[in-house]
Amino acid sequence: MRMIDVIAAKRDGHVLTREQMQYFVDGYVAGSIPDYQASALLMAIYLKGMSHQETAELTDIMAKSGDMVDLSGIEGIKVDKHSTGGVGDKTTLILAPIVAACGANLAKMSGRGLGHTGGTLDKLEAIPGFRINLSPEEFIESVNRVGCAVVGQTGNIAPADKKIYALRDVTATVGSIPLIASSIMSKKLASGADKLVLDVKVGSGALMKTLAEARELAELMVQIGERNGRETIALLTDMDTPLGNNIGNLLEVREAWATLNGHGPADLTQICLILSAHMLRLAGKGTYDECFTSAKAAISTGVAAAKFLEMIRNQGGDPSVLLSTDETSSPSTAVSSPSSAVSSHPVYATESGWITSMDTEALGISSMLLGAGRQTKDDVIDYQAGIILNLKTGMQVSEGDLLGTLITTDPTKFSEAETVFRSAYHLGSAEPAPTPLILEQIDKNGIKKF
Ligand code: URA
Repeated sequence: MRMIDVIAAKRDGHVLTREQMQYFVDGYVAGSIPDYQASALLMAIYLKGMSHQETAELTDIMAKSGDMVDLSGIEGIKVDKHSTGGVGDKTTLILAPIVAACGANLAKMSGRGLGHTGGTLDKLEAIPGFRINLSPEEFIESVNRVGCAVVGQTGNIAPADKKIYALRDVTATVGSIPLIASSIMSKKLASGADKLVLDVKVGSGALMKTLAEARELAELMVQIGERNGRETIALLTDMDTPLGNNIGNLLEVREAWATLNGHGPADLTQICLILSAHMLRLAGKGTYDECFTSAKAAISTGVAAAKFLEMIRNQGGDPSVLLSTDETSSPSTAVSSPSSAVSSHPVYATESGWITSMDTEALGISSMLLGAGRQTKDDVIDYQAGIILNLKTGMQVSEGDLLGTLITTDPTKFSEAETVFRSAYHLGSAEPAPTPLILEQIDKNGIKKF
């Protein structure tokens, strides 16, 4: 086989055979296929697309390009959740302890943030001492003992995706839906869970800006999961507005803690209960309604909060960073007394009106500029940095009202971050129609609209 023929086949709009895709993945990982040929194939895929069957096969080949994690040492059904990423998305920190408190197991491998979206690992590392690099044995043992553990991806999960993703990033081919689906699902298949809940974010802060493209991605990922023997359900959820009020690593951990104590913002609490209920149902813990009730009870009885502390201590973290704040206060109040090294900068509205929409990506970029995220993968994170939002889409604002507070350990960053923060608010004269938090549910039976 020759790589030039594989490229030509896709250029001419043909469906690639499994052998052709295996040849490409093996050769590219081994280094025998150069970047320029791999780039040409990726661009041909970007322009000509892939069939569902072709995408499922590419995903399987990419998943098997490295280690397939064996979770058989964990009892019961293993359910995983994946979010396509957004701003203020701290749901894993909340639903991992809820799901574990309700008797299911969550063995989760998470990623880091890049650009405007945050990453669960960075949030957890905002907790002093928290270890995200457990050995495979420690990982399994932790899930069996605590019910949940969240770690970084071990060295050799889907190495083909690592190489291909890096190339897509510099060849303007990130936006291909079959390539996104195979990238995400190859890592999920290799991570070993039996069942998957996918949270596909839609809107100005998400990878998928429109409902139509989010639906296409979700349908494809559900099909890939099902074709590979993993029951998969996707929820399309709103990311036109940040989730919750806090953006930034430690700020988000504290908001997660407030939510686990029953004092979280309504949108964040609701989405965590819904995602937890789907995960618990897939884990065989009852009907959706029964699981939703159990998830709610895990918060109201305090068992989910206790489970979060247990998970943090089990992974070497020091939860005093949470306990030193008053968890009975609102999330915004809970972070209103940052340590002396931290500066905060309130931003006030200069006009009145209704907040008709927010550029959520701009808020993520503002938080990144404050030090909460990485512009390049080697940037060092300021765990304390971020934004506390006071006003969000659908709220009325008067000139002089507090829009939000910017926080950083480097006050020279305020000026640029404030400019970007202000640009995110769009005001109008009429109250906007409310946007539902959950837009659609997609599983093997089709689409359910809300
Ligand atoms: N996340 C991934 O893991 N891969 C993509 O291609 C896009 C988002």
